[in-house]
Amino acid sequence: MVEYIGVTDIQRLVGAIGPAEFMARLAAEIAADYRRWPEFENSPRLANHSPVGVIELMPATDGRLYSFKYVNGHPRNTAEGLLTVMAFGVLADVDTGYPLLLSELTVTTALRTAATSALAAQRLARPDSRVMALVGNGAQSEFQAIAFHRLVGIRELRLYDVDRRATAKLARNLASMPELADLRVIPCGSTAEACRGADVVTTVTADKRNAVILTPPMIASGMHLNAVGGDCPGKTELHPDVLRRPGLRVVVEFEPQSRIEGEIQQMPADYPVIELARVMRGESVGRRSEHDVTLFDSVGFALEDYSALRFLYGLVREQELGRRVLDLIPELDDPKDLFGGTLHGARATARSRSRRTA
Ligand code: NAD
Repeated sequence: MVEYIGVTDIQRLVGAIGPAEFMARLAAEIAADYRRWPEFENSPRLANHSPVGVIELMPATDGRLYSFKYVNGHPRNTAEGLLTVMAFGVLADVDTGYPLLLSELTVTTALRTAATSALAAQRLARPDSRVMALVGNGAQSEFQAIAFHRLVGIRELRLYDVDRRATAKLARNLASMPELADLRVIPCGSTAEACRGADVVTTVTADKRNAVILTPPMIASGMHLNAVGGDCPGKTELHPDVLRRPGLRVVVEFEPQSRIEGEIQQMPADYPVIELARVMRGESVGRRSEHDVTLFDSVGFALEDYSALRFLYGLVREQELGRRVLDLIPELDDPKDLFGGTLHGARATARSRSRRTA
């Protein structure tokens, strides 16, 4: 039987420890996996584009476990009452090829994206960073806010979104969390206003074009930029001159994928970048001085979903109650008798019926 984690299960799993603690633990898992980077077989994701969006498959394996994620990106979906980004994924055993877990990954993607952003910021932002601009206040934004409060020490958030209702929603959600009582939240009238005085700037907007969310005058010495929303060919958030800033330190997840999808798609093929794994493994220094401007050019990488699925699989198997399983794969007395064991006669039994274990 294949373990199953649906939306209600993820609500329960995250709810049991709280999103901040969940992201802290998940960040530790992601960090551990980035540190053993050479063990992974890494490849850019397979993306199928349409005029309005993209559907992507993201595989990762370390030779013991294999994972893949199905994820979309459709910025116009919210106008139809649908999510911009939704996902699900599978964790499998390499030795047998059998799936172990089928999981929702929509909420989990938001958790792992924010956890990865915070991990990068721990190494790239100035240690005394307390103020963050958060531009784009949609589905991902609460997760970024909570992760940066917990893992980076952000205590003031300056919000901006072209949709004021999104900003109001974010402010409302953050205000309702007692653990964020020491977080000051300030709605702003523009991106430039939000960036003023910020130590960290997170951009997490959705628009299927080369948008210009950040321009050079908004960037101050010592800032860390966490650019999350530019993650597809032709979908970026930074003015190219931000990337041309002398001395800018740019960190990416997996260079071959980021050259296609990240902010750096706007730059020549030899534009210098540092892979996050090198920073995590201590092979490269992210920030060299308090004056450096650093950029985490996030696009989302399959290893982060592998870490999340592995983490979820461990969590769900620790549980006594409430586990759900799926009859995704036939269980046969004779594995050479697929026909007889499933479709033919009395042996096609209730063994393969979906059930709850508790
Ligand atoms: P969403 O549609 O829920 O929210 C996006 C928000 O951006 C909306 O509220 C929209 O009004 C706002 N926005 C659009 N243009 C803007 C502008 N010019 N200035 C200010 N705000 C603007 O989407 P989401 O699920 O929050 O995702 C946000 C982005 O993050 C998407 O582009 C998505 O593809 C990307 N994403 C990246 C990763 C990653 O790992 N890097 C993971 C998940 C999502």
